[in-house]
Amino acid sequence: MFVLLRRRILAASLAALLPLGCSSSRSVVRTEADASISAAPEEAPRWGLVIPGGAGVILRESLTSEREAAVRATLQEALQAGHVILARGGSSLDAVTAAIRILEDSPLFNAGKGAVFTHEGKNELDAAIMFGPTRQAGAVAGLRHVKNPITLARAVMEQSPHVMMIGEGAEAFARQQELELVSESYFHTEERWQSLQRALEAEGSQARQPTSFWSRPEGRAFKFGTVGAVALDQKGQLAAGTSTGGMTNKRFGRVGDVPVIGAGTYADSRCAVSATGHGEFFIRYTVARDICARLQYQELPLREAADTVVMDVLVKAGGEGGVIALDEHGNVAMPFNSPGMYRGYMGPDGVPSVAIFREE
Ligand code: ASP
Repeated sequence: MFVLLRRRILAASLAALLPLGCSSSRSVVRTEADASISAAPEEAPRWGLVIPGGAGVILRESLTSEREAAVRATLQEALQAGHVILARGGSSLDAVTAAIRILEDSPLFNAGKGAVFTHEGKNELDAAIMFGPTRQAGAVAGLRHVKNPITLARAVMEQSPHVMMIGEGAEAFARQQELELVSESYFHTEERWQSLQRALEAEGSQARQPTSFWSRPEGRAFKFGTVGAVALDQKGQLAAGTSTGGMTNKRFGRVGDVPVIGAGTYADSRCAVSATGHGEFFIRYTVARDICARLQYQELPLREAADTVVMDVLVKAGGEGGVIALDEHGNVAMPFNSPGMYRGYMGPDGVPSVAIFREE
């Protein structure tokens, strides 16, 4: 897998990056937005929002134009929801929460409605949120009835003395907080159900090795789809959040990187990261914290730190995926070592910029 991954990466262009509100657009796609970004004044306040919507094998030929349009529209809607809050001086935490709730409510992404299925045919949801200035964090895992896991993660952070809650206990807390609960069928989508069926079939035809059954559950069609957001508000406060259904065909109460603070989600006063990809690798390599630690200890620029971890450390390990990251100055990095990653950002100009494929 490493060799294949390496080859794909060598053939591909590197990460996308630019400062929010800066005149340089580099390789990031600004589709319809290029003109307005390059017109943005240098002294523009550096605040904004970046979102991922999952990374993996997202190829032009496997995405219908209708679906592509729907994905782009929903990513824009999420950016807009966060931007409205930031523009009026609201907090990065509120912006992150608002953007992620929209993505959780959309069946297009692997979070909330549209979450992937476990081996047993259930949906089990994980989420986390972190506020950079105080390093407060909230995380939840293994939820089956909470409509918006990111809201519960935030409640854990703000309304409890704990950082992480799981399963039935977390859902009891959600009830106590009067958060919206739904029946398990709410999360069911036919597309994700069929993905599970394909994964089960593939598994049946493979040798049953304990470490192999998640590695490529859907062969070349394998996609991630986790959603997230990182934001920098007008007070210079960073926040990060991530929400996911995990990985298709997961078993035994598996929990991925998303609710593990420092793995899939992390924010401090200088750096915020939300990750999407093969969670086991992101946990073992503490990806989100590793990126921010490189800023802290090595004083690396955000781009270099994020590129090193995603395009070098993770690639060598065989870990597929990507991150979105934002620093205290509004610099954005969005490296991914998979063929595609849904991603978007919005700076002070309020122009949404959304990209899916590598070459965008
Ligand atoms: N990182 C998630 C997990 O392993 C999957 C994803 O990003 O889609 O649970």
